[in-house]
This record gives sequence, C-alpha cells and structure tokens, in this order.
Amino acid sequence: MSDGARLVWFRSDLRVHDNPALLAACRGRDRVVAVYHACPVQWRRHDWGAAKVGFVQRSLRALAERLDRLHIPLVVDTTCDDFAAIPARLAERVRALRVTEVHANREYEVNEAARDAACAAALEAAGAALCLHDDQCIVPPGALRTGAGGWYRVFTPFRRAWTRRLAEEGVPAAAAAPAPRPADTGPVDVPSMAAWSAVVGRSAAALPGADRADLWPGGEAAATARLASFTKDRVCAYDTARDRPAIDGTSALSPYLAVGAISVRRCLAAALAANAGRLEGGNAGVITWIGELAWRDFYRHILHAFPRVGRNRAFQPETERVAWRDDPEAFAAWCAGRTGIPIIDAGMRQLGATGWMHNRLRMVTAMFLTKNLLIDWRAGERFFMQHLVDGDFASNNGGWQWSASTGTDAVPYFRVFNPVSQGEKFDPGGAFVRRWIAELAEVPDRFIHAPWRGGTALPTRGAADRSAYPVEPIVDLRASRARAIEAFRTIRTG
Ligand SMILES: Cc1cc2nc3c(=O)[nH]c(=O)nc-3n(C[C@H](O)[C@H](O)[C@H](O)COP(=O)(O)OP(=O)(O)OC[C@H]3O[C@@H](n4cnc5c(N)ncnc54)[C@H](O)[C@@H]3O)c2cc1C
Repeated sequence: MSDGARLVWFRSDLRVHDNPALLAACRGRDRVVAVYHACPVQWRRHDWGAAKVGFVQRSLRALAERLDRLHIPLVVDTTCDDFAAIPARLAERVRALRVTEVHANREYEVNEAARDAACAAALEAAGAALCLHDDQCIVPPGALRTGAGGWYRVFTPFRRAWTRRLAEEGVPAAAAAPAPRPADTGPVDVPSMAAWSAVVGRSAAALPGADRADLWPGGEAAATARLASFTKDRVCAYDTARDRPAIDGTSALSPYLAVGAISVRRCLAAALAANAGRLEGGNAGVITWIGELAWRDFYRHILHAFPRVGRNRAFQPETERVAWRDDPEAFAAWCAGRTGIPIIDAGMRQLGATGWMHNRLRMVTAMFLTKNLLIDWRAGERFFMQHLVDGDFASNNGGWQWSASTGTDAVPYFRVFNPVSQGEKFDPGGAFVRRWIAELAEVPDRFIHAPWRGGTALPTRGAADRSAYPVEPIVDLRASRARAIEAFRTIRTG
C-alpha cells in the first residue's frame, strides 16, 4: 500500500456493485477512503421530504456495511449544511489524508454541477484532482445527437437512436464490486451512524411526508432482491399490467434507482436476460420495461441539454405565459386527496401514506392539477418532490412538464384526461379506490369512479364516513377542461 490516498465521494450512487467512481478509486495501491456529505439545508431547498431523507439514511447504513467488508471506511460528514460549504471541507480532508484523486459519479442537476465545478477548483488548489465518471444512465447524457447535430427533444426518435447505439456499440456491462482492500487502512475519523442519525433524524422529523421504513428497506441487497423477483415473475406481463394501479405490475425500483442503490445498467442486464439478450422484439413486457429505462435516460439527457428546465423554467418557453390560477383551497384539497374525484384522491392518499404513487396516477393527478384546476405545474412538482421516496429531479420535472403540456414531448394541450374515464379504464371495479378511500368501500362498482352520480341513495359504510367524503367534485370536469384548453389556446394565438 502506498502513502497516498484516494477519496471516493458518494452522492446518488449508494452501492458498491457497478459503481464507476468506486472502481476507479480502487484501481492501484493507494489507500481508499469514502465520504458522503449530508446537507440538510440543501435537501430542504431541494424539497427532499421525510420519505427520501429516511430512505437515504437507510441506504447509507447498508452502504457503510458493504464498504466495511471491502475495508473502505465511510466518513459521513454532517458539517456542511449546504453545497456551498463542501469545497472547503473537501479540500481540508484531501490535505489531511494526502489524497491525490477524488472520484465521484456525475450528477446533472444545475446546483450539483455548480457544486462540482467549485469543488474541482478547490481541490486543484489543494493538489488533488476531481475525477467525474458517467454512471446514472445507460447512454450518458450528451452522447446522442440528431442527424443535424442538435439535441433530441422528442422521446421516440431519442429511443430509436438510443437502441441503435446500444446495438452498434454494445450494451454497457454491469461491473462487479471491487475486491477488498488490504485490511490496514490507517486511522480515519469516521463518525458513528448514531451521530449521523441524530443530525439527520432531527431534520427529517420536521420534513413533510411519511417515512415508511417498513415499505422501503434501504440498500443494494433489497434492490437486488426486488429486481430479481420482478424479472422472474412480472416483467413478461409488464406491458399489460403496468397501467393497473390495483396490481403489483411494476418493479417499484424507482427509489433504489433514485439514490443509486442499484445501477440502471444492472436493471437493463436483468431485462435482457429475460428476453434472450434482445433489445428489440421478443417479449413485449420486457421491451416495454426497457422503454421506461430509456425514458429515465431521456429526461436526464433533457436536463443536460436544456438546463433551463433545472432552473424552474418551462421547456417550451411560450408556456410561461399560461395564466395559472391561484387557488389555495383547491390546491389543499388536491394535496389532501379530497377533490371528490375518487381516482385522484386515491392516488394522492397512496402518495401521502407510502411515499410512492403508481405511474398512471402520477399522470392523472398531475394533469388534473394543471388542467382541470389550472394550477401551475411547479406547485405540483414541489409537492411530489416533498412526498416521494423516489423523488428524482429529472424524472419528476419531465413527468410534470409532460402532464402540463409545457415540456418536451408533452401531451398536446387539448388532450385532457378525463379522470373518471381513466378510473373506469385502469381501475375497473374500483379495487384501488376502495383500498385508499375507506369512505367509498361499499359504493357499487358502477358509481365507484363518480359517486356523485349515485346521489344520496348510495349504500355507504355509515353516514359519518360517507359525509366525510366530498359529495361533489371540487370542479366541474367539462367546464374546467374547456377553461384549460382556452388558457393554452390564448398563449398560442394571443
Ligand atoms: C408527474 C410525474 C412525476 C414523476 N416523478 C418521478 C420521480 O420523482 N422519480 C422517479 O423515479 N420517477 C418519477 N416519475 C416517473 C414514474 O412515474 C416512476 O418512475 C414510476 O412510477 C416508478 O415506479 P416503478 O419503479 O415501479 O417503475 P417501472 O414501471 O418498474 O419502471 C422502471 C424504472 O424506469 C424508470 N421510469 C419509469 N417510468 C418513467 C418515466 N415516465 N419517466 C422517467 N423514468 C421512468 C424509473 O426509474 C423506474 O423505476 C414521475 C412521473 C410523472 C408522470
């Protein structure tokens, strides 16, 4: 072992398998030390809620155990409240440990990229290099250009180019974990997990949302088990099951991908193994699921190519002129799952109680907020971020801007989902609604998605329960749809 050291800086890549920064740090004979910066003030600014912070904490604990087996100490640094404090702190650590290289996996969000630029300068002054690696995507952002040399703005041609590249250059392999280092790592000041839990636990208690450790165990073992059971039992039926919120038809891997407890290359490898190695053709369920991994890449590509979306701006600049309504009461009803429209309310209650919402319902609830209520997508984006265990800037922003018709590839503004028909189509019989809205448990199937049509004669679980649920929707669906279409038409013609 040499005198020098290498630092691996963990961020949204909390795993030892297939981790390019960790592997690069472990190349050679230098001692390897790992660091993670917990930045509670920054997290709050980024709208991380209790679900996400708790999940990060569990994932870090699992990571520390894995690293321990590799004889790599993990320093969880709780001294930097926000990103601005990291460069100086990192430079200090680099000097103390005589580090020559700091390895980290690239993050594409605006503040994260600025933090890394500041760290690179501070580290250079301290005699170390910041080495950034591409990790988060299957095809790194920036790698695909249109025939004319521009950026892709629409998913379908992006996916064609994405598939072509993987077919031509090969699917990137998912690497194993590095071999254990020699046991003698020398003294490092590693604060105990209890100290870290005290700091983060305090701030998480005051954050919005619910932390459900029972539903979302942290770490890569949990992620690997989830991927294995999904690709063994469910991926082949994904194309038909994925739109049904009442059934367990999707992988629920999003929190693990968001914190990097599993690599997306590993997910792709498992999907390909279930489809005889085919990226195209073969099983429709697998191909549809690979398409979702491509969507994830696409939104990171958009964030990289069009950083305005990371600065709170619409992808389509003209949609900044939409006259969004200020309606705190309606917004509060949407947040609380009390709009009177069962499928919307069931989705919002699922989010509040579990930190996760089914994709179909994310689209339906987002469209209801931005079209029927005509409330600015940024309010919904923020609320989701504060409550999601899988909160991920690029995917959340992409999903919101898609639903609001302000984004890339966005749904045309005149195509407004009718939430009642969406409920009838994707939750026939209302099993999902009944699960989340106890007040409606005994409403007959034919009224379950529009109980107001059944009038007061509906059988209920008791007058108190029935009256606890809004008797009418908070908005007339037909009139509010027309209002939204008009608001968008005005900015195009006016
Ligand atoms: C308004 C809105 C907000 C969203 N916010 C987030 C968010 O904060 N974090 C997040 O990870 N996803 C977000 N999504 C995308 C999607 O809803 C979730 O990724 C998905 O529901 C997670 O469930 P799953 O892991 O079972 O997905 P699966 O269906 O099993 O898909 C596998 C993986 O592909 C990725 N993926 C799937 N669908 C999408 C998509 N539409 N866009 C980008 N990636 C996708 C996810 O990483 C997911 O884990 C949002 C979608 C909408 C419409």
